[in-house]
Amino acid sequence: MKGLIHIYTGNGKGKTTAAIGLGIRAYGRGMKVLMVQFMKGMETGEMFTMEKLGPGFTLYRGHEVSKFTWNMNSEELDAMKQNLEKDLEYAISEASTGNWDMLILDEVVGAVSSGYLSLDKLAGFIRNKPDALEIVMTGRNAPQELVETAHYVSEIKAVKHPYEQGISARIGIER
Ligand code: ATP
Ligand code: MG
Repeated sequence: MKGLIHIYTGNGKGKTTAAIGLGIRAYGRGMKVLMVQFMKGMETGEMFTMEKLGPGFTLYRGHEVSKFTWNMNSEELDAMKQNLEKDLEYAISEASTGNWDMLILDEVVGAVSSGYLSLDKLAGFIRNKPDALEIVMTGRNAPQELVETAHYVSEIKAVKHPYEQGISARIGIER
């Protein structure tokens, strides 16, 4: 089967969880799924789920980003950018092993649209991806170049979010 490219973008809740849902469907059919998370700091529930699923659905958290970017000085920002590049290189090298049927690059779109990771590098990889590999990317403000290359692009629009009513992130729902 030829692998296609997905993007979940937009300002609403559900991009990461949609990607995980697709991964769960693929896993159920015996596909091997690798999810690489970019710019993650906090513990999230899926870490524990994927430990239970075994190597067929593997989560690689990448380098931790434990501070808000607007609180970082220029050295910290540079270090984060270098780490993001290493995380992308890790994903690219794993893709080339042929061990995976689906590669989820969670928040890679946000890293690129915020200017922390090279669009050229990501777009170059996507255009030349292994033929059978399904790729799923998430994050806000998907650049036009990625949208044009992708086959599925879904934009999740925030109509309401309880954050606006002062309800902060809940364990098991947001994290
Ligand atoms: P989820 O991880 O729940 O599927 P997401 O991937 O769409 O959400 P991100 O843009 O990655 O959301 O945002 C990170 C965190 O902010 C998540 O905990 C998410 O639930 C939460 N979030 C998403 N959209 C909003 C919003 N419109 N207002 C406030 N918080 C949000
Ligand atoms: Mg997300």
